[in-house]
Amino acid sequence: MPRVGLRPLAAALLAGAVAWAGIPVSVTSASSLHAQVADVITSKSPLLRLAAAEPEKAVNAAVVTAKGASVKGNKARTTFSLDLSSGVMAEVFTLADPYRVIIDLPDVTFHLPAGAGSKGDGLVSAFRYGLISDGKARIVLDTSAPVLIERAEMTPLKGTSVQLGLELVPTTPRIFGAGSGGSTNAQQATMTAKADDAALPPVAKPSDRVKPVIVIDPGHGGVDPGAISPSHVPEKKVVLAVAKKLQAHLEKSGAYDVRMTRVSDIFVPLDERVKISRKLAADLFISLHADAIAQKNFAQTVRGATVYTLSERASDEDARLMAEKENASDAIAGLQTAEMDDKGQVRNILIDLLQRETANFSADFSNSLVGRLRRTISLSRDPQKSAAFRVLRQSDTPSVLLELGYLSHAKDAKLMNTSAWQRKVAASITSAVDSYFSKRTARAP
Ligand SMILES: [Zn+2]
Repeated sequence: MPRVGLRPLAAALLAGAVAWAGIPVSVTSASSLHAQVADVITSKSPLLRLAAAEPEKAVNAAVVTAKGASVKGNKARTTFSLDLSSGVMAEVFTLADPYRVIIDLPDVTFHLPAGAGSKGDGLVSAFRYGLISDGKARIVLDTSAPVLIERAEMTPLKGTSVQLGLELVPTTPRIFGAGSGGSTNAQQATMTAKADDAALPPVAKPSDRVKPVIVIDPGHGGVDPGAISPSHVPEKKVVLAVAKKLQAHLEKSGAYDVRMTRVSDIFVPLDERVKISRKLAADLFISLHADAIAQKNFAQTVRGATVYTLSERASDEDARLMAEKENASDAIAGLQTAEMDDKGQVRNILIDLLQRETANFSADFSNSLVGRLRRTISLSRDPQKSAAFRVLRQSDTPSVLLELGYLSHAKDAKLMNTSAWQRKVAASITSAVDSYFSKRTARAP
């Protein structure tokens, strides 16, 4: 993938190895970068020079905010610009399947208007932004076709402000692909957890464990907003709010050791979520999500919660599509998709006997959960389903994925965004957890 380091250090770029925020990036197709690098070195920003001379200072600079972003253009040329309160080091690169342009920045706080990025222009169909990991922000531009980054630069504005500008032009899939061959993508490697983790032998539960360990997994986060309501409420926000209330509820009795896969608005890769659960040898894993449907004519009739468990074959076509949608989280955040196709993994785990026992426990919990939720919130027409969700791919931990409702449904969206509703759901889930563990304890020899 052609990468452009946005700093006037052409020599270092062309030398083939640049360290950016501690991440070594090797540029193997230097010749294809000539035009872009030429543009980069014309940048006059003094802060960019500082970044080049002392990268650490630029990365650790005082809080940098993104104050505006715009996409303008047509199918022949599209400009993306981002106004920043001060100069930072940025890294820009492209990814295929689907075609995207990724802009990596240090810890930038986004102050963009609600709904920013939901509509694109020209070659850019939409864009997303947010934290990709601790202290690192990312913007993902979805492009309708393969593009070339023809120009990338930071232009000084008033005071310390700068504008990061990208000019994209269409290219052929062949030329687009040529830039990606052989380039070592160190960052992708660290962000994409190895798929084998779930198939590893179980982490032994400590024999002195006194409390069951419960992992709560609020879906999405950071650069991946998940589903979005018509009034721009993102799924990542709703599920984090419910997760925090659920944690508080579960901890109240003192009976459980409760952990979260994320506690802030940050992106966590799917396999990382599974890994967290595995490392803790969790006794129960609860993933929280909310859905939205795109078809406007159905939006006001489809609502309610659904509990999903893992299965190789989806219980129906809607469940299969749901798993596909949730499994796309890593791609949405701009991770490589090539390494993520591992249907074989799901199958391998499913034939495992251990998994069969785990699946029975997952089904038990799903029954408890649906029973409790039925008394407090509205459920979907068919509230217990199964499909191959990556995040449920756990051989030893009973796991469910709860879709709390539909952000596309006006009433569901409104309710889900209130503390009263969130507390009610947290109480119901807690009651299902109590019932599940009381049965398991009773069964134990
Ligand atoms: Zn989701």
